[in-house]
Amino acid sequence: MKNCDMIKDLLPLYADDVCSEESRKAVEEHINNCPDCKAELEKLGKNVTVSPQKDAEVLKRIKRRLRIEKLVVSLISVLAICGILLYGLVYCINDYKSMDMEKYKILENVSVSEHDNAVWLNIKGYAASFDIDAPTLSDTNGKHLGIDDDFDSEKKNGYGVTLKQRRIDDFTFNPTGSLKSFEMKIFDLDEKKDMMKVFYYDDVNNKEYILWERDQND
Ligand SMILES: [Zn+2]
Repeated sequence: MKNCDMIKDLLPLYADDVCSEESRKAVEEHINNCPDCKAELEKLGKNVTVSPQKDAEVLKRIKRRLRIEKLVVSLISVLAICGILLYGLVYCINDYKSMDMEKYKILENVSVSEHDNAVWLNIKGYAASFDIDAPTLSDTNGKHLGIDDDFDSEKKNGYGVTLKQRRIDDFTFNPTGSLKSFEMKIFDLDEKKDMMKVFYYDDVNNKEYILWERDQND
């Protein structure tokens, strides 16, 4: 093959890296398909490790791997976002926050009254979606207790009430619906002689609003 002769003439130059770009390309293209010339080149001490074709293959493989990596990263991102959204949803459904004092006019809608020798908590009706975290009771140190919890009257002299709602609930006092209000006994006056006050506890601003105080002349 006449081509081989021409290439063989170029091989020493190629091996020494002194041939032109055009010749280099010609040599590389040729030795890819000609074991004879390739062997000849190797004899000259030049290992042909990278051929343009192999380059293309390697490049293709790298691109493929990059594409897969990109896909994996995208998938992880999507899963992470889904996780965050799910967490947010669960948070919205289950998390209770104290009701905004101003927005819900708490002090107009929550009151404490005294009759039948007992102290009562009155809450003007609530929307069906309202979830009441029990009216929370607390001592004056802000330690909250459920209404049925044992209440150590020796250490505590006041009841705290806090209304809470879930973030997703739209709460309204005094709905036009059937439930107008409800009343709940907090304690019997004779039983809890040390109880001096009932207050609404705004646990967002850590403020107490007195709802009832024992008549000192009792
Ligand atoms: Zn050849």
